[in-house]
Amino acid sequence: MLDTAQTAPTIRGLYIGGQWTPTARTFEDLNPSDNTVYARIPDASAADMRRAIDTAQAAFRDWADRPFHERAHLMLKIADVWERRAPDFCAAAMAEGGGWKGKGLFEAGYVAEVFRAASALCYQSIGDVLPSEHKKFMMATRFPLGVVGVISPWNMPGILTSRGFAAALAVGNTIVLKPSEDTPYAGGLYFGEILAEAGIPAGVFNVVTCSRDSVGAVGDELISNPRVKAISFTGSTAVGRHIAAKCGAYLKKCCVELGGKDSMIVLEDADLDAAARAANFGSFMHQGQVCMSTEKLLIHDKVYDAFMDKFLARARKLKTGHTNDPSNTIGPLVNTRQALRVKALIDDAVAKGARVDLGGRAWDNFVEPTVLSQVDASMSIWNDETFGPVVTVSRFRDEEEAIAMNNDTEYGLTAAVWSRNEARALDMAMRLETGIAHVNCQNINDEPHVPFGGVKASGVGRYGGRWSLDAFTELRWITLDRGGRHFPPQF
Ligand code: NAD
Repeated sequence: MLDTAQTAPTIRGLYIGGQWTPTARTFEDLNPSDNTVYARIPDASAADMRRAIDTAQAAFRDWADRPFHERAHLMLKIADVWERRAPDFCAAAMAEGGGWKGKGLFEAGYVAEVFRAASALCYQSIGDVLPSEHKKFMMATRFPLGVVGVISPWNMPGILTSRGFAAALAVGNTIVLKPSEDTPYAGGLYFGEILAEAGIPAGVFNVVTCSRDSVGAVGDELISNPRVKAISFTGSTAVGRHIAAKCGAYLKKCCVELGGKDSMIVLEDADLDAAARAANFGSFMHQGQVCMSTEKLLIHDKVYDAFMDKFLARARKLKTGHTNDPSNTIGPLVNTRQALRVKALIDDAVAKGARVDLGGRAWDNFVEPTVLSQVDASMSIWNDETFGPVVTVSRFRDEEEAIAMNNDTEYGLTAAVWSRNEARALDMAMRLETGIAHVNCQNINDEPHVPFGGVKASGVGRYGGRWSLDAFTELRWITLDRGGRHFPPQF
């Protein structure tokens, strides 16, 4: 049995150049289950960020020039240290992030695999040998970029932070991480502790935390500083747009993984028991605060009532409350701002005629699992990412209508299709405007070696496996002439 008691961590400062450096100012990091202070966190300035970038730059050459297998071994060491300290991460994710214990355990297990998959990248081919018109020896070869800036969100602080930098680090880049102000420990300073213990050389990995008030200045420094060669961002579409635009102005690489408004489609020949169970998980796991959460259930008219009976019976059993009570599968939303936003989306829908089939109650930072039907495009909830424990359910009459409903969003992260006819469901999956589609499963799926990412307003770029290399390496054409190149006689 893991000991995941929710005790406050010791915060020693920013993690820069292998040292813990206190800052002049700190900010409060709250436990969203009761709004008590979980920790006081360093509130960095742009000057602190500049110092971290300079330190990462100074460490770059040595790190990039190490034999690749040394970096691979260190990735495996990180995985081992991470695994040994899994209970500490789980406790932090529950207290600081408001997550249910099962989610914390899942995340803790996943992160170790992210580093193992990153280690494997070190052994892959780094390029191609090309034919030459002039009999040159020519190659297309990947090189690390230099300093990579990583900006991570709060909802999966372990997975999304590690996914944001592990591949970049493994192939020889150095890192400056700016975690979310809502999970600055679990998604930030905790990684400093782990990588320090694993023996990552000083300066190769740095963590700069700051409050939401300071993030404009600190974030601008990270993006605009010429020593930073790429930005790895996971977060909302609004902030991601700003970051991508800024990166564009500086002609800097960026990989941005953003929001979603994901549908699960249930055809009339689906296994309804399995679909109802999957929908319950996809809609409500971690209070719906996953970019891939099932936000819209699209159900064939012929099986709508039968599906709803099964789905509501399951959803009704989920208990909501403080994460220190293990019987609560549904914890709080991450902060009061988010809780009020989700409640406002429910109120707007109900005021415009939506029916509450389940839940609807909200208190403190909690919102009960809520199921809304009779929704339409006039309601904000049809278009806006809810990022809460709320799912809408709509009927469709044929495949074309279901595809149109799925695609009726600016987002395009994941989709799910249920049918016992695999060929029919696969054919439909091919026609959905999303980066990811699953047949006979719900929307929340990820593995460290797959190309994860969205289309439309859900992002640009892919994380995972060899696809991460496009974002975090520079592909160069290098030639060696052996006397075969001819020039005009005039020269
Ligand atoms: P957010 O966009 O508010 O914040 C994300 C990060 O950006 C945080 O670290 C924040 O401090 C930072 N940030 C904010 N303003 C900034 C600025 N001006 N300059 C630099 N950095 C800045 O998102 P969030 O609330 O932390 O996360 C929830 C959102 O993330 C949801 O929209 C969710 O769908 C999305 N998300 C996407 C994925 C994916 O893989 N596609 C995964 C998880 C979450």
